[in-house]
Amino acid sequence: MQILDIIQNLSPSSFCFPPADVGLASFITPLPFNPIKLICLVIWVYLCLFFVQRIQFSPLVPYKYKPAAYIITLFTGPILMLILLIVDTAKRASQSNVSISEIIKLHIQQAITNIRSGDSKRRHKKSAIRLLDSSGRSIDDIYGHGDKKRQDSRVLDLTEKVISDALERQASDILIDPKDEGTYTIRLRIDGVLRTVEELRADTCKAIVNSIKAVSSMDISEKRRPQDGAFIAKKSGTTASFRVASAGVLNGEKLSIRVLNQNAGTFTLADIGLAKKQYSIIKNAIKKPSGMVLICGPTGSGKTTTMYSMLNEIDRFTHNVITVEDPIEAMLPEASQIEINPKADITFAKTLRSVLRQDPDVICVGEIRDEETAEIALRASQTGHLVLATIHCDSNATALVRLLDLGISPLLLSSGLSLLHSQRLLRRLCTYCKQPAQLSQHLINKFQSKGIEYTNIFEATGCRRCEDTGYSGRTAVCDLLVITDRLKADIANSKISIAELRTEEHKKDKSHMRKEGLKKVAAGITSLEELKRVVG
Ligand SMILES: [Zn+2]
Repeated sequence: MQILDIIQNLSPSSFCFPPADVGLASFITPLPFNPIKLICLVIWVYLCLFFVQRIQFSPLVPYKYKPAAYIITLFTGPILMLILLIVDTAKRASQSNVSISEIIKLHIQQAITNIRSGDSKRRHKKSAIRLLDSSGRSIDDIYGHGDKKRQDSRVLDLTEKVISDALERQASDILIDPKDEGTYTIRLRIDGVLRTVEELRADTCKAIVNSIKAVSSMDISEKRRPQDGAFIAKKSGTTASFRVASAGVLNGEKLSIRVLNQNAGTFTLADIGLAKKQYSIIKNAIKKPSGMVLICGPTGSGKTTTMYSMLNEIDRFTHNVITVEDPIEAMLPEASQIEINPKADITFAKTLRSVLRQDPDVICVGEIRDEETAEIALRASQTGHLVLATIHCDSNATALVRLLDLGISPLLLSSGLSLLHSQRLLRRLCTYCKQPAQLSQHLINKFQSKGIEYTNIFEATGCRRCEDTGYSGRTAVCDLLVITDRLKADIANSKISIAELRTEEHKKDKSHMRKEGLKKVAAGITSLEELKRVVG
């Protein structure tokens, strides 16, 4: 009976540990059990039984030593395996910050879970998240039910785990790419910073990539040509959308998954971290019935969230609000949202033209990318429509340069624009672990000379709550440029040359932003290092 128990506990499933927690999962060593190893295990069991029998009848072993001999024979194998496991765990732990005890604890927990529940039962219990393609088919439907191989179920578990983890940690992007021939890394961009959360064997990760490509309606057999796709995930009553892009790279295939910010539609202007004066300037600009408010910033600087928060200040019951986006990031009640699709020839410019025929009060342009879109949007802003738009630019000055470079006439630009808003996102210090900063005398003198309060400056430390980063959440730091009548005249008369804008104004923008950022540092919201990292 004892031997049977041991054999049962040594069944392959007890050693194939699926990751318990992303992050720690990479340190759990699945003892790889292929058929050959299974045969070895069976042979070993037979050998054990054989030796037990020999000991029982052997005159060489004295009677009083027989129990000890039985124990040694029966337990040599498991003890050897245990030693192997401990040595391997210690090796992994030495390469990471996770302690041996923590890894062993995870091993034991996972082994118990595996023994207690069957594999299929476990899958259904665990999967609180459902991945669906654009037509609403679940990942299980795509792969088929019934004779699903165990490996498939494990891959689907892992895929769901990766997506679920990204949502829980509020990541904006998931990157899956080959590190070398045998390993893939899974990274998450959280608060604008990439973090490696997992390193997996290439074959496992390739299967995950395939399952994501399948649910995103992409061609699984095409590994080299870049492809685009999308899928949605349903988790505890909420729906999140994902945009997927694949590309063949050295050693395999890279997958970039963008998590669309579902919370973006719930932000108000008061939430994004504006100074009082900035708040009232924006309020004034969006109260006007016409003019363009242009939001500038690089990728990931929160332009869309700011645009949504401006829209949330507008009464959408009494105004006809139409948005043209690529893609629609969040649902806005009482607004008509249109998603462009360049593949189907539904471009920003074409859609904007049709929108103008629908009697809009407020038009939102997801992103100005070309001259045609810029021109239609600016003309609309002159003719009794409030236009909110974003442009991929470093600063307010470079946005003006970019529009002029696109071929927009200075006259149109000056009469259409009402406000330029550029922004960056600074990570907020974790309130649980921030520590008063140790400032050098030089810095204190600098703060004193500028009249900045320096007694409330903190620095990042790191704790369990912020995953040792020292930061949690983000706040915007903005710079506004109101297009006054004088500025309008200067732009229209081309008094401000492009060269001047490129150098002087750009520098001014940067220093404005730094000044705003310093106020947040002085208030203990963010750190000096973070300000330096983002604004320079
Ligand atoms: Zn913390």
